[in-house]
Amino acid sequence: MSHEATHSELSPNVNHIEQVISGLVLPAPLEEEFRKHYSQSGVIRARLMPCFALMMTLIGVVLRLSGDEPQLLMMIWDLGFFAPLLIATLYMSTLPDHYRAYQVLLAISGLISGLVIVSIYFRPVLVGMPSYLAMEVVWIVVVWFLWGLRFWRAACVALLITSAHIYGILTLNYEVQVLGYEIVMLLLVNGIGAVSCYQLESTARRSFVESQELVDMARELSKLAELDGLTGLNNRRSYDSYIDRIWRQAKREEAVLTIMLVDIDHFKAYNDRYGHQSGDDTLKAVANVIAAHAKRPLDFTARYGGEEFVLALYDSSADSNLYPEDEAARKYAETLRKGIAAIQIPHEDSTTGKYLTVSIGVAVILPGARRSLAGAVQMADEALYQAKEEGRNRVVVIKTGDSNFRTGRFRARKPSVA
Ligand code: GH3
Ligand code: MG
Ligand code: MG
Repeated sequence: MSHEATHSELSPNVNHIEQVISGLVLPAPLEEEFRKHYSQSGVIRARLMPCFALMMTLIGVVLRLSGDEPQLLMMIWDLGFFAPLLIATLYMSTLPDHYRAYQVLLAISGLISGLVIVSIYFRPVLVGMPSYLAMEVVWIVVVWFLWGLRFWRAACVALLITSAHIYGILTLNYEVQVLGYEIVMLLLVNGIGAVSCYQLESTARRSFVESQELVDMARELSKLAELDGLTGLNNRRSYDSYIDRIWRQAKREEAVLTIMLVDIDHFKAYNDRYGHQSGDDTLKAVANVIAAHAKRPLDFTARYGGEEFVLALYDSSADSNLYPEDEAARKYAETLRKGIAAIQIPHEDSTTGKYLTVSIGVAVILPGARRSLAGAVQMADEALYQAKEEGRNRVVVIKTGDSNFRTGRFRARKPSVA
């Protein structure tokens, strides 16, 4: 996998974003996520509004109770619809998982509140007193901007409130001038509200899509950062963090851990003879064989450094009905060694054979309280050293407790090529 190709595939494609947000609908799963996100982002504003409205209601109740003739019917209308709805909406806003129900409640409470405000407007008018449009205008602005409804819902709610008002003034024989003024005022505030609400929502959609693409890109890039650029196997860094985790798990579960170090024989001579580019191609070919051998979910392969690879096999005793763990591991390593020899990469400067070969050092460990990960890696290293010493192109297995495990002979590790 070439890095350049992958990077350009990942960069957010502006045309794609345009395509995705044209209109106010995103492709299905993204639309769902967006609605949830949009609903949540409006919650704080929406929470302030019912608090404010409840306060206004309470003030209204106190004023009316202190009056000469408390208008009970009116109070029941105000409080009977208004307060419980607002409380329910407020409560729903604390349950992000029920955002759909919350949105529906929000729309209903926005509408009922609006109708209550319309009715408050008309009460003085009915007894021949003047009344003012201001509170309704404010509420329509709230519905469009602050209530947190998506465009079409806000449109329905605002237009229903507006219609109720216009219906009222049409049936009440208003003076033409006042009638005209109120209708123009309401149309104007709704027009401004609609345009702005639409734009707010499409901007929110755009930044939502962009942030989603960035998340995907970051995820992909971090995946790339875990891979070795040349071979596409995991790199040394991801091996280090993996082996650390799997070691602790093996310890907890008393599972057997097998660490295999695979080192290409006479690779310096190969490079010298065929050139560095051919050397790179050969490393890729060997890596492919190794990757093809790691079949089980917990078989982990990585480029350990230079021309060395590592395999970490978790609980290799899965085959232990047939073989003891170290025999299963030996069989696995032998298959791998033969698999690499079978691709028959000519190596005329090898003193081991006509074709490229590898040596494999295997450590089969039961991680216990008295064992360390460093000690386990040292065992695999020691086994590899022994395989080289015994003539290369072979597998040497060391098992926990083997008496032929000679410490202190491991080689100094070369720096990683992560
Ligand atoms: P041995 O059989 O004992 O393992 O001998 P060797 O020559 O394989 O081992 P040595 O450690 O002496 O040399 C390893 C060589 O691997 C040296 C270096 O040029 C080559 N090498 C390491 N990384 C790369 C790489 O990324 N590309 C290429 N082409 N060669 C590499
Ligand atoms: Mg080496
Ligand atoms: Mg080598």
